[in-house]
Amino acid sequence: MKNKKKDIRALTKKQLQDFFVAEGDKSFRGSQVYEWLWNKGAHSFEAMTNISKETRKMLNENFVINHIRVDRMQRSSDGTIKNAVKLHDQLTVESVLIPTASRTTACVSSQVGCSLDCQFCATAKLKRMRNLNPDEIYDQVVAIDNESRLYFDRPLSNIVFMGMGEPLMNYNNVMKAVEKITSPEGLGMSPKRITISTSGVPKMIRKLADDEAKIKLAVSLHSAIDEVRTKIMPFNETFPLNDLRAALEYWYSKTKSRITYEYIVWKDINDTLRDAEALVRFCKYVPCKVNLIEYNPIDDGNFQQASSQATDMYQQMLERNNITVTVRRSRGKDIDAACGQLANKSA
Ligand code: SAH
Repeated sequence: MKNKKKDIRALTKKQLQDFFVAEGDKSFRGSQVYEWLWNKGAHSFEAMTNISKETRKMLNENFVINHIRVDRMQRSSDGTIKNAVKLHDQLTVESVLIPTASRTTACVSSQVGCSLDCQFCATAKLKRMRNLNPDEIYDQVVAIDNESRLYFDRPLSNIVFMGMGEPLMNYNNVMKAVEKITSPEGLGMSPKRITISTSGVPKMIRKLADDEAKIKLAVSLHSAIDEVRTKIMPFNETFPLNDLRAALEYWYSKTKSRITYEYIVWKDINDTLRDAEALVRFCKYVPCKVNLIEYNPIDDGNFQQASSQATDMYQQMLERNNITVTVRRSRGKDIDAACGQLANKSA
């Protein structure tokens, strides 16, 4: 049986250079091809015009170039853009461009579906189909960078891993993508402009700290009381708040980087004084700030945004305790591009 062709984009620059040397060519040829793949975004060997015909034919026989394709782009009335991205195996993920007056933020996916089971999130209903490869993550960023230049006349400024999936459950590929995004051969972005958002996987938060990734960390907390959190995020049973707390303390001791807690206040779930007090206590463990995020309803209606009095109560409690808090409005709701709404409806 004929060997399955390899995805050439899974090779590092060094591996590509070594491949050419092994073929009796120069290592420089590897650099040229690498540049076509990563700087010029070539989607076929045919496009590599400074490479000889024979070499292109040889590459064609040995490799494929897997790349994503923006299948459908939707624009929200507030300027937000959502891309439905087709992968080489026809699965789809979504990524979002969020413009503000001074920034363009890319919200990217890390998995097709999700490993976790947050009851309020549309992506969780899909179950995890597979992890994204580093280049599939990187390509989402490049697509949004291009759109930012085209529609807003400026490059992408920030990246958040808040699309589909749990980035820390696809750790190696996410970190490889971050490496490419931050390297001068990729986009040369500062890691400080990249935020990884996690539901809170203690072991992987420790690893992230050990690997000195220099990225920012956000944690989807939503409750600082175990029994409440387990109800809405059942994996909290396996990774309870004490373990999360210890991992976050470790993260801070290593990185000195302040953590952002994402928090939604829901009616009859976490809208009491007791809930807010628990959050204040949790916030004292590690330097942090809190983003109170608006709930974006998903279809089954079990969760409802709490009253504005409840959100105000949270805000006042936090401020009184000198904890920075911002209340974040959702963007792109009219095209199902807001947090927790990514579920391939457009596919
Ligand atoms: N798995 C990661 C990243 C994806 S979710 C994480 O959990 O952080 C990105 C953010 O959207 C998280 O803070 C998540 O809690 C929030 N979110 C999920 N569903 C939501 C919904 N329906 N409305 C508003 N935010 C939601």
